[in-house]
Amino acid sequence: MAIKLPDLPFAKDALAPVISANTLDFHYGKHHKTYVDNLNKLIEGTDLAEKSLEDIIKISAKDAAKAGIFNNAAQVWNHTFYWQALKKDGGKPTGKIADKITAAFGSYEKFAEELKNAGMTQFGSGWAWLVLDGDQLKITKTANADTPIAHDQKPLLTIDVWEHAYYLDYQNRRPDYLLAVIENLINWDFVNANLG
Ligand code: MN
Repeated sequence: MAIKLPDLPFAKDALAPVISANTLDFHYGKHHKTYVDNLNKLIEGTDLAEKSLEDIIKISAKDAAKAGIFNNAAQVWNHTFYWQALKKDGGKPTGKIADKITAAFGSYEKFAEELKNAGMTQFGSGWAWLVLDGDQLKITKTANADTPIAHDQKPLLTIDVWEHAYYLDYQNRRPDYLLAVIENLINWDFVNANLG
């Protein structure tokens, strides 16, 4: 029961010019696929081979000897979640999440600034997140493969800030990538669905 690479939920050119088809070719077709392939090699023939991806993450997060499995499993999960959190013409939040963002951060503009800052201040590789921590909306960042689901938080949206996510389109300009994604590509229907 191997872990599968899910289909992208949009065409490769759907997010251009914010994220180009060229970036998605490498990011989805090479990076994400490699995490899936590496994970399957690492768990083949072990007890983890029969577990769900979420269970593999939670089990390996507690075991330093399984760091390689954790890194690949969490990266598979994080990337699948990132693609789902993106769509063409995302725009401003709608529905229940719009009210929750205003209540938690004061305004959409303050939320957007804080999310951008989380991504900008993640030193090196990692992820910026909007999560539910209990019933509290929080903006967080994680390093490398780390993921909120290893910390009992419920992810609502994420932005990949590894260089491979933006370097072909923005080179070193991580803030420009973050701003463009936040303003144009967030799938608020997906965020609302995650609120439950
Ligand atoms: Mn990535």
